[in-house]
Amino acid sequence: MQKLILIKYGELTTKKENINLFISTLKNNILKKLEDQDVLVSYDKGRMFISKKDEDYTNIIKLLKEVFGIHEIILAYRLESLDFNELKNNVLDLVKEENFKTFKVETKRSNKNIALTSLEISALVGSYILQNKDVSVDIHNPDLIIYLEIRNKDSYIYFTKIPGLGGYPVGTLGKGILMLSGGIDSPVAGYMAIKRGVKIEAVYFESPPHTSIEAKNKVIELGKILAKYNNDLKLHVINFTEIQESIYKNIPHNYLITIMRRMMYRICEIIAHSNNAKIIVNGESIGQVASQTLTSMKAINEVIKLPVIRPVACFDKLEIIDIAKKIGTYETSILPYEDCCTIFVPDHPVINPVIKECQEYEKLIPYQDLIYKAIKNHEIIRINSQETNNFKDLL
Ligand code: ATP
Ligand code: MG
Repeated sequence: MQKLILIKYGELTTKKENINLFISTLKNNILKKLEDQDVLVSYDKGRMFISKKDEDYTNIIKLLKEVFGIHEIILAYRLESLDFNELKNNVLDLVKEENFKTFKVETKRSNKNIALTSLEISALVGSYILQNKDVSVDIHNPDLIIYLEIRNKDSYIYFTKIPGLGGYPVGTLGKGILMLSGGIDSPVAGYMAIKRGVKIEAVYFESPPHTSIEAKNKVIELGKILAKYNNDLKLHVINFTEIQESIYKNIPHNYLITIMRRMMYRICEIIAHSNNAKIIVNGESIGQVASQTLTSMKAINEVIKLPVIRPVACFDKLEIIDIAKKIGTYETSILPYEDCCTIFVPDHPVINPVIKECQEYEKLIPYQDLIYKAIKNHEIIRINSQETNNFKDLL
């Protein structure tokens, strides 16, 4: 018998027309994730199979837990036969190693040409175990479930299923531009978009010398965490200093944030167009701050045409924090480095900005030239998913 990993696709199987694209993208994403691991990957419409010469899958399972589009990760034994005598003897050999008092057998038979039904196969294997081992059957709460899968040429035996991340393979839904600040919300928003198959490129606005290199490194570190799920990450760094200073000098301070965010949106839309991205993703959450009231969102959103997806719009902060902790961004997000927004925060930001006023104020600054300049000079950082966590060394 060969020991190997069996992948169940989950939600993918509902995508009838695109199924080939979904499965081949998943395969490529898995190959990328496991590129140093010397594995063989093959698949059919129902399952993907990953095998490795030394049959040590501990590290592989850990890495597969970071790949979207996987419903379950299963460590299985493959028997290259459909012979039931062989099957029951092999099952018995395997369960000798297991410590249990009660069990049940669950069989799945994708090969409908064989004589026995799934229930009959379970009964056959189950009674053979009962004859040869001092254990009993418990359908409802067994210590051990013996899963059998009878496919076209092979039979598979396994005992545990490890949940995968679910979602769609990254890239199957196209590309999005994530507005990535150093805060808690935007990395979570990015993760949620990646989960739905959107390949992310990130944009970070920095305002040196008002913002520090540590603040930027923090964003790079968050980018590295997202890169694990996104295959890699292209991070666009926009120098926002001149735009922010110009807004600060010329525009009434209660409108600073509104106008600043309108500029960010405009820049993101241009970056999206030039990188073939179809949406913008950000970490806005309804009501969280003055710029996230519905009126503010409307006033900010009206400067661009691309859809803005806000995955955490309806989440409470505590719910967002929960996800941030689960995906490993929280500890980095709470490091205390100022963001470009926090530096120029006015005492009384407008919570019901008027679009006409925004337009009038914007006439006071040469914003098109400033935006052009910022984009022309922008820096691109390519983050590889394999990079290790060396943020602490940078501080
Ligand atoms: P976060 O929302 O990520 O916790 P934050 O609370 O500092 O960070 P907000 O002021 O709430 O950010 O801004 C809302 C959203 O705007 C952010 O979630 C992020 O998507 C985007 N954003 C804010 N500042 C920046 C920045 N400096 N660079 C890129 N995107 C930003
Ligand atoms: Mg926020």
